[in-house]
Amino acid sequence: MSEPLLPLREPLRAPDGYPQAPVSSHDETLSARRVEGLLLSTGALQRGHFLLKSGRHGDRYLEKWALLQHPDAAAEVCRLLADRALAVAAAAAIEIDLVAGPTTGGVLLAYEIGRLLGVRGIFAEEVAGESGAVRREFRRGFHIPPRARVLMVDDILTTGGSLQALLPPLLAAGAHPVAAAVVASRSPDLRTLEVPGRESIPLIAALTMSLPTYEASACPLCAAGEPIGAPGSSGR
Ligand SMILES: [Zn+2]
Repeated sequence: MSEPLLPLREPLRAPDGYPQAPVSSHDETLSARRVEGLLLSTGALQRGHFLLKSGRHGDRYLEKWALLQHPDAAAEVCRLLADRALAVAAAAAIEIDLVAGPTTGGVLLAYEIGRLLGVRGIFAEEVAGESGAVRREFRRGFHIPPRARVLMVDDILTTGGSLQALLPPLLAAGAHPVAAAVVASRSPDLRTLEVPGRESIPLIAALTMSLPTYEASACPLCAAGEPIGAPGSSGR
């Protein structure tokens, strides 16, 4: 990674016990630790006692934009994902022709990962269909060549719905999704992404973590008398 023109005025410092510098993407445990450190040092991963929008309580909260607003930290995670994606592609003896993500976080990720892989990075926007159902579309004149091998990217994976929504327009264009890469997966059991009518594809996550939530009546933090607060809004 080349140095920025000006050094960051408030350098990020990972909490004690976390790697303080980029680590090899080949060491999944260490690199996940590094990513967790970046999420903590940027404030993207908060620990506390939170009242979530769902009404449930949680002891951790993930705000992706706290990470993505730091170009160097976001680029470091993108490099990790690009390395992993290249390894997956090499193992399957294929190349990646295009990177595609959903708005809004996916715009940044597709751009930087596309840059690292030497291909285009495009994004799909939400559009309301005639029935009122929301779907995703690649607009802005983005061209998807038939048979393009596509790496799909996203920030936080919860159910995989945002990535799944990229599939109809990609498949309609004749493209071949080959892998999906996310900054953080909240679904440890999800190791692949289903592709309708095709083989499922590998899911690459820079960090995998479960973020349990609780009904107020069953919340251990409430039971411990911890004061509760609302996490920062992601604006979505
Ligand atoms: Zn609680």
